Amino acid sequence: MLKGIATSSGIAIGKVYKLEQPKIIIKEYHDEKKENLENELARFKNAMAKTIKDIEQIKERASKTLAPEELAIFDAHLMMAQDPEFTDQIENMIKEGKGADEAAKAVSDTMIGMFESMEDAYFKERAADIKDVSYRLLCNILGLTIPDLTTIDEEVVIVAEEMTPSDTAQLNKKYALGFVTEIGGKTSHAAIMAVALGLPAVVGCTGIMAEAKHGDTIILDAKEGTVILNPDEATLAEYKEKREKYLEEKAALQVLLDKPSITVDGHQVELVANIGSPKDMDNVVANGAEGVGLYRTEFLYMESTDDFPSEDAQFEAYKVVLERAEGKRVVVRTLDIGGDKKLPYFEFEPEMNPFLGYRAIRLCLDRKDIFKTQVRALLRASTYGKLAIMFPMIATIDEFRAAKDFVLETKEELKAEGVEVSDQIEIGMMVEIPASAVLADEFAKYADFFSIGTNDLIQYSMAADRMSEKVAYLYQPLNPSILRLVKMTIDGAHSQGRWCGMCGEMGGDPMAAPVLLGLGLDEFSMSASRILPTRKIITSLNKKEMEELANKALKCHTESEVMTLVKEVLKA
Ligand code: PEP
Ligand code: MG
Repeated sequence: MLKGIATSSGIAIGKVYKLEQPKIIIKEYHDEKKENLENELARFKNAMAKTIKDIEQIKERASKTLAPEELAIFDAHLMMAQDPEFTDQIENMIKEGKGADEAAKAVSDTMIGMFESMEDAYFKERAADIKDVSYRLLCNILGLTIPDLTTIDEEVVIVAEEMTPSDTAQLNKKYALGFVTEIGGKTSHAAIMAVALGLPAVVGCTGIMAEAKHGDTIILDAKEGTVILNPDEATLAEYKEKREKYLEEKAALQVLLDKPSITVDGHQVELVANIGSPKDMDNVVANGAEGVGLYRTEFLYMESTDDFPSEDAQFEAYKVVLERAEGKRVVVRTLDIGGDKKLPYFEFEPEMNPFLGYRAIRLCLDRKDIFKTQVRALLRASTYGKLAIMFPMIATIDEFRAAKDFVLETKEELKAEGVEVSDQIEIGMMVEIPASAVLADEFAKYADFFSIGTNDLIQYSMAADRMSEKVAYLYQPLNPSILRLVKMTIDGAHSQGRWCGMCGEMGGDPMAAPVLLGLGLDEFSMSASRILPTRKIITSLNKKEMEELANKALKCHTESEVMTLVKEVLKA
């Protein structure tokens, strides 16, 4: 048995399809290519033209099995291949005497290094795109052939060194039962895609490429992160049974798709989704979410490479999300940039502690020009659905009032221009700084709703950087101190007749659900794939009993004591 990193869920049993990618070997030419400059330039240009053609062909073939949103990855690759900043740099290096392969490798490596060194998962993913395009380009320069996954026409489990974005996008779910990769971590592109595609996958499985042969029988358990090659009869039977059970459970969850999220004693809550872009709406609909609880708009800003997204571009994105939500509430968070989230076209002054620095609403209130564009776009889109706006990183009532007034002034400005704006927009805030949790009852006199951002609330309460693995043990959503802050926030909202949601990771944590229900949380916002499992938990619980559980939890001394209480409830 081999051990890797669990990514998604499910079990795949099938034959190994070993994806053998050609190895790139680059020579150093030490200026000897200078005389053949024209040849080298032509070698590069022809290879680039072929790369573009290859991507277009893969996109064409993949369009038979993939949704338009999933095909967008190929457009990103085409854009990258045609980006003059990329190609000019390579041409310049060739003119300085480098070989076409040498130059392409050097320029790509610099760009990959730049993106990989960024903390943000989104930018790390961009590095995977650049790797993907440059690998194809290098193969074409060197005359190597990349295997074509779209030609697979039997049920297989793919075994690969690494799955690039275009590899995963080429997978036909009819034949690809799952995949195992030698390298990659929990936030690797392959892992993220496996979850999005609903495919069982194990990544970072060291030794798999050496051990697996084409045609071997393979079992992979994506939840446990285990891989078994050529199992004996008994093991095979055991896993077939496990697979059946998993599929049954998954099918059983589908029954809950259109059901309300209501406890056995009749208390109803809302289970809504976190999204990062309009294309996530497919998953929102497919998983029976009751709306959107957090639209992280910073991705719109991070996707743009040369300038802030225009008012019209933003309007289009917000309109699509609102329309696709079909009247269900969509909570859009205004720009939350800064900290680890940087923009290629905006210079942040260096700070000692960027997470405690010039970011999110602080930046927006200082740079009203940037804020104005977004607020105008949001208000213009408001007539296409049920819009709620919330501000990130609010620390003081002054900040909240300033941001809200700015929205209201902008609304009047638009109306004076003759633009229609909805009169039903709720204006609320994230509670993710302890100061605002403590003062929640007063904040609730101004804000229409709260959404608790536990990722930051826990980081600031524990003074433990959410990016640091060394202090990751302090991420304790069920620590009584955090639960007391959550309670203060919920009670604060309710004291003024407001509703309170939660959109940090804790909102979709099965261990937290019983306590949050007991504390009176009204809305739980989470990754769309968590909606149905959470609905299953909520519909099996009794609100009154969970209130008792929450009271006990608030009096505990440690997180593990709370965990013990919750485990008893979930077992029952
Ligand atoms: C949070 O802080 O919990 C949150 C939802 O915001 P983000 O993770 O985007 O900082
Ligand atoms: Mg946050």
